[in-house]
Amino acid sequence: MIEVTGNMHMHTYYSDGEGSHDEIADAAIEAGLDFIIVTDHNVWVEGMEGYYENKNGRILRLIGEEVHDIHRQPQANHFLAYGVNRSLADFAADPQQLIDQTNAAGGYGFLAHPHDSALPIINEVDLGWHDWDIDRFAGLEIWNYMSNLKAGLVDIWAWLPIRNAYLAKLYALPFADKPERQISTPRPETLAVWDALLAQGKRISAIGGSDAHAATVKIRPFFKRVLYPYAFLFRSINTHLNLPHSFTGDVEHDKMMVLDGMGNGRAWVGYDMPHSTAGFRFTGEGRAQVSMGEEIQLDGSVTLRVQTPANANIRIVRHGEEVASVKNSTELTHIAHKEGAYRVECTIKHAGKERGWIYSNPIYLR
Ligand SMILES: [Zn+2]
Ligand SMILES: [Zn+2]
Repeated sequence: MIEVTGNMHMHTYYSDGEGSHDEIADAAIEAGLDFIIVTDHNVWVEGMEGYYENKNGRILRLIGEEVHDIHRQPQANHFLAYGVNRSLADFAADPQQLIDQTNAAGGYGFLAHPHDSALPIINEVDLGWHDWDIDRFAGLEIWNYMSNLKAGLVDIWAWLPIRNAYLAKLYALPFADKPERQISTPRPETLAVWDALLAQGKRISAIGGSDAHAATVKIRPFFKRVLYPYAFLFRSINTHLNLPHSFTGDVEHDKMMVLDGMGNGRAWVGYDMPHSTAGFRFTGEGRAQVSMGEEIQLDGSVTLRVQTPANANIRIVRHGEEVASVKNSTELTHIAHKEGAYRVECTIKHAGKERGWIYSNPIYLR
């Protein structure tokens, strides 16, 4: 097994981002990523997939799509389609059809920022997932940097004594300019939905992403700056994949490995800013040895082992219930005797408090 790190939610000027595909790839190389998947709104941009190189390195750039129904009122239900190779925007009005079309094309569909907060200061509504009568999607984007930041700023907006939009922006700027103080953990509601689906015996994979737009924030007449540049966000919430072997340089082959890894949950979501999450391990050992996204026969018991690349508070969770935990350690072992989906959560101290760090995909004990 080898590990690659990528970011799989971002926007260029083909939708509401401000950078080009090449600027994004340059930023991703600068941040040390191995791959990116660009997900513009309601457009699948052709001719952009492949290896991109500059003098500092090389990156695998893939193209997905963030689909949503532009006629829906209120706006909601953002859907990330990966590995489809064409736009699914025509199916946006019917979420189940969107999922089925993704699967039929051999792709993987994820619900983007399933729980979100409205942020009136920038006229943003709650863009969470609202139509839950769906099935057969590959997974959930359990942690979205920009959505998490938005939620942090909502609290600041709540104390605001005045409701004047210009003054509110002035007031919020120092908070918005220190984003790492607002980033906390994935939304508990999203983790609860995930655990409930896992408890029903479903396989639901988790990814995380930046949702980078690199928008220029303007407060006239004195402030004009990109608050969250691509390279900054690509050092934040990433998805790390376990692959059977290193990238070969063959685009189609390497693309299939990435899609297969993320679609089947051979991955963890890492907030790499406090400390890189590279090197994290979660394995299950019984008759065989397995890792995240894989199944193992229970056969009496399975030994679950967690290793982290820095001291953290570590928990193993089964269907929403903690089954083992340790504080300030790099290791945790638990002997499991029950069937089910076991996943790991780690928190770490950063920017003055305990924050989310690593969220693994499950190992399935059957
Ligand atoms: Zn979105
Ligand atoms: Zn987005």
